[in-house]
Amino acid sequence: MKTILVTGGAGFIGTNLIKRLLEDNNKVICIDNNYTGRFENIKQFLNNPNFKFIKHDITKPIKIEKEIDEIYNLACPASPPHYQKSPIFTLNTSIFGIINILELAKKHNAKVLHASTSEVYGNPLEHPQKESYWGNVNPIGPRACYDEGKRVAETYCYEYWKSFGLDIRIVRIFNTYGPYVDPNDGRVVSNFIIQALKNEPLTVYGDGKQTRSFQYIDDLVEGMLKYMEVDKNKLENKLKDKFNWDTVPVLNMGNPEEFTILELAYKVLELIPESESDIVFKPLPKDDPVRRRPDITMAKEVLGWEPKVKLEEGLKKTIEYFRELFIRKGV
Ligand code: NAD
Ligand code: UDP
Repeated sequence: MKTILVTGGAGFIGTNLIKRLLEDNNKVICIDNNYTGRFENIKQFLNNPNFKFIKHDITKPIKIEKEIDEIYNLACPASPPHYQKSPIFTLNTSIFGIINILELAKKHNAKVLHASTSEVYGNPLEHPQKESYWGNVNPIGPRACYDEGKRVAETYCYEYWKSFGLDIRIVRIFNTYGPYVDPNDGRVVSNFIIQALKNEPLTVYGDGKQTRSFQYIDDLVEGMLKYMEVDKNKLENKLKDKFNWDTVPVLNMGNPEEFTILELAYKVLELIPESESDIVFKPLPKDDPVRRRPDITMAKEVLGWEPKVKLEEGLKKTIEYFRELFIRKGV
């Protein structure tokens, strides 16, 4: 039985991950300051003796008395409206947060899986995006507090890996959706589903021709678990031998099927046939990336992982979740 620390555990990805870790019979310590996370999400775990919740802000040093085997560092507001609401807090979470996590990992000799993002590629000039692409990021725009914070966090991971031999794995997550997203999150999939269920117009920003590649949460959780499972030397040697990758491990995780935002809007409306919503066009936010699609060759080769859930199937499950939340619980 492993003891696993999950920061940001009350958030969307954290809740789904913790559910699976507890099902797999691990002990889980969840750290969250409830900035964007929902206490409602983790209520279901509170009676489980293998679950412990600590309310804490990871920008402050973290002390854990128990031995920790693994750390998943997920804490960070992730939706553009949330991360732009308190940009300095977002930057601090990425930067001071990762320093505190890496220091904790050093003390406990724990493995770390750090959640980075496709945003490190910015508005990409290479398509699809491989891990070796350095990105095209505006350091002084509204998205910079998130993108640049995540880039610095990757640099800290690299330096701790190099200087102290820490066992660190970075995952660059591409747009992921599914149950347990906060209804006020503001990201596109939950926005469209909630709008359609409430018969409100679907808000497409810009002309809707920008693209994203949408990954269902179960595929990501499966990928992260496989990534964490593999032995450090085996992982690093495989990356080196097959891809000439001789730095800290980094893997893209996302679904390579790419859709325009307008296609997504029509798909959601098709799957909620009773909806009376139409589509309205709103201004495109500044620095909104034009297109995004992961190259997942490295994860496929090294972990034998690739996403299985098609957009339609994942949307159906997410729609069911929000229907339940709205209709039965009246949220
Ligand atoms: P989320 O907003 O649902 O969850 C983030 C959680 O972190 C929340 O529970 C929040 O309260 C907590 N948190 C934020 N700052 C904190 C701090 N300083 N101390 C303690 N807790 C803090 O977001 P999510 O979608 O679950 O994303 C989780 C991680 O995955 C983030 O690091 C995000 O950058 C990364 N990521 C997510 C996606 C995606 O599509 N969902 C894509 C790329 C990267
Ligand atoms: N978007 C949209 N309507 C919304 C929310 C988002 O058209 O109600 C667009 C947004 O401008 C972007 C894409 O959908 O082009 C994905 O946005 P999201 O915030 O989900 O993720 P990110 O921009 O971080 O990829």
